[in-house]
Amino acid sequence: MAEPEQGSQQHVVIAGAGPAGLTAAVELVRRDRPVVVLEATDAVGGISQTVERDGWRFDIGGHRFFTKVKRVDDWWHEILADDEFLQRPRMSRISYQGKLFDYPLKPMNALRGLGIIEAVRCIASYLWVRVHPPKDQSTFEGWTAARFGWRLYRIFFKTYTEKLWGIPATEIQADWAAQRIKNLSLGNAVWNALFPKKGQTEITTLIDRFNYPKYGPGMMWERARDIVVDGGGDVLMESPLVAINHKGGRAVSVVARVGGKNVKYACSDVISSMPMNELLQIMQPPVPEKVLAAARGLRYRDFLTVALVVPQSAGFPDNWIYIHTPGVKVGRIQNFGSWSPYLVKDGRTCLGLEYFVNEGDELWSLPDEELVTLATKELAQLGIADVDQVERGYVVRVPKAYPVYDEDYRANVDVLRTWLADNAPNVHPVGRNGMHKYNNQDHSMFTAMLTVENIVDGANHDVWQVNVEDDYHEGAVESTEEAYPTERGTGRDAPILPRRKTAVAADEDVA
Ligand SMILES: Cc1cc2nc3c(=O)[nH]c(=O)nc-3n(C[C@H](O)[C@H](O)[C@H](O)COP(=O)(O)OP(=O)(O)OC[C@H]3O[C@@H](n4cnc5c(N)ncnc54)[C@H](O)[C@@H]3O)c2cc1C
Repeated sequence: MAEPEQGSQQHVVIAGAGPAGLTAAVELVRRDRPVVVLEATDAVGGISQTVERDGWRFDIGGHRFFTKVKRVDDWWHEILADDEFLQRPRMSRISYQGKLFDYPLKPMNALRGLGIIEAVRCIASYLWVRVHPPKDQSTFEGWTAARFGWRLYRIFFKTYTEKLWGIPATEIQADWAAQRIKNLSLGNAVWNALFPKKGQTEITTLIDRFNYPKYGPGMMWERARDIVVDGGGDVLMESPLVAINHKGGRAVSVVARVGGKNVKYACSDVISSMPMNELLQIMQPPVPEKVLAAARGLRYRDFLTVALVVPQSAGFPDNWIYIHTPGVKVGRIQNFGSWSPYLVKDGRTCLGLEYFVNEGDELWSLPDEELVTLATKELAQLGIADVDQVERGYVVRVPKAYPVYDEDYRANVDVLRTWLADNAPNVHPVGRNGMHKYNNQDHSMFTAMLTVENIVDGANHDVWQVNVEDDYHEGAVESTEEAYPTERGTGRDAPILPRRKTAVAADEDVA
């Protein structure tokens, strides 16, 4: 039976109601273009949503609103009123064996905090590597140990990096560390502490301020959805795209699963923020085998958060703390009460224990109650709250939180881009997983804004240049995800990982 058909050849169909999809939709309704947004889940905001459970609100990761792209900053302030934004002090530290250390890491602060015996061992270990440098410095491990010594490397670099990426640090390429850590080394730090240059002040990056919507980032995306609907657009929830029909070198319609039925939407263009690998796999007629293989070759790192309700007194002033203590699986802990008092309830706060996982692995597959038990136990093990202080817990699993950059990802993305350009140039990938790019909200949104100008105004923006060249309509951009606890600054946010090791358990058959 033929699918019921909706829409028109004027409609722009948008896959995904995350930041990229909703930004595109708002921009299109502002220009009176008919638009339909199809969202697979029951929530707007994608990875930038704010989850609400029993009146507790929490983020997937904690989302700072920080950008050097002026257009994006203006847009945020058009959507939310000034008094709906809080100016939050930013603070995060590293937890190791019950002690808290400055973040970004400052070697002298680290040595002082570790105590005299461990500090002497770390210095001796550093002197050792000066004489016996690691043979292979092409890896993250060798490169970092050469600059900090093995002991400091193990305490402040190895554990968290391995938890985050899920592979040994010996298998991560050094260039990423070189870009992030730059000239920092224990030797330089000690020298600068002993002989400060005239006028040198301590880098005060530990605390600064950022914008945060009162009720979390989801507030921004709920409001954006309302603007789209008020402007005559459709935003359909629980309506995943299942096919894109293309003919004569263009996409002509989209099929979505709406209310248990397949519904066809005619379209002029498709703006897609759904994962790029899935987009290419729903093309009808199907893409050639070589393109399919490239699509299946894209990989991800997944994420889950266990939000635990505890007394406010068990919280901490930091927005989040990096966990470097060995023996626990948790990678980072958010204190949502430190993000906004409007997320939590009187006298209590909500701590988000974050686990970096692969979809389908052991942790991912644990029942929610067992994850809450594990998180509660780890919180107590870290000395943050006693087991009986934990009132309740909620689990949120986030597939495809991080697009993985492996040795083949660039070539795979190129194959997909080329196929789209040749066979369906009116399908426009945008955003983070949409472009398989480590984009934050601002860059995800910016790709959507430029794409709308390409469609409506016939502009010729190369959206693939966003978040590549600092001078592409912006200044140098600071990383907001802080995947790696050293210096902040520009640079690639993700390392290149070896392909065979990044195979996600559930993806093992896809080679
Ligand atoms: C731990 C963590 C912390 C972060 N911190 C920050 C931060 O502090 N500041 C910041 O600016 N950014 C941060 N980010 C990045 C930010 O979350 C993303 O850049 C942003 O959400 C990407 O927007 P998007 O619309 O491209 O994709 P997404 O947010 O992934 O949205 C895509 C949407 O498409 C939907 N979808 C998928 N498949 C289909 C389909 N077949 N049909 C229809 N819909 C589909 C999804 O359900 C989703 O709603 C963080 C990310 C993580 C993982």
